[in-house]
Amino acid sequence: MTLLVATTNPGKLRDFATAAMGSIGIEPLPGLESIEAPEENELTFEGNATIKAVYYSRFAPGKIVIADDSGLEVDALRGAPGVRSARFADDCGFHLDALQDHRNNACLMDALGAVPLHKRQARYRCVLAAARDGAVLAIGVGSVEGMILDITQGSGGFGYDPYFLPGGEQKTMAELDSQRRMMLSHRGRALADLSSRLSGTVPDLTL
Ligand code: IMP
Repeated sequence: MTLLVATTNPGKLRDFATAAMGSIGIEPLPGLESIEAPEENELTFEGNATIKAVYYSRFAPGKIVIADDSGLEVDALRGAPGVRSARFADDCGFHLDALQDHRNNACLMDALGAVPLHKRQARYRCVLAAARDGAVLAIGVGSVEGMILDITQGSGGFGYDPYFLPGGEQKTMAELDSQRRMMLSHRGRALADLSSRLSGTVPDLTL
């Protein structure tokens, strides 16, 4: 069974391909670059993941299309950046750095200011929706707990990874090797959850 993933984010694609297990294959949705993206205007990860999966599934008739919405929740920021994770820098008015990840990380450091390390609990959360021909089939969720450092460590991964130290680890997400990162990954956990729900809800699927 092949699931078509609707993302152009190379970091997400890599994560899903690594997390795919057993009889599930993950492939990028063909032609995604030339499809205009839908507006992600819901207030929850689930709402935005559903918008994307339903919308993109219409471009691959009869296929199962999956789309995720994910982000970072920092307790000291009352759950921000949350669904604004990809565009957090806009909320700070940070536009100078050419790289969006750099702008977002600068915004995160600015928002956390003098918050001490022991009060920087955070988590990555991922909600993954599967849809076929414009109808939702199942939703999977996954998260990984950790904390936000005040200096960057490592250059792997993407987004907030150089600042995110998963619970119980000595290395940030940007330093961990891909196998370890996948074991902890919110995306991997969401894919596992989605797969088990899909096999229970869609009678004509053999996973
Ligand atoms: P989305 O494309 O709207 O789901 O935006 C997700 C955003 O959350 C990304 O652009 C990153 O800023 C952040 N994010 C989500 N997952 C990760 C991750 O695994 N590592 C680092 N940042 C992440």
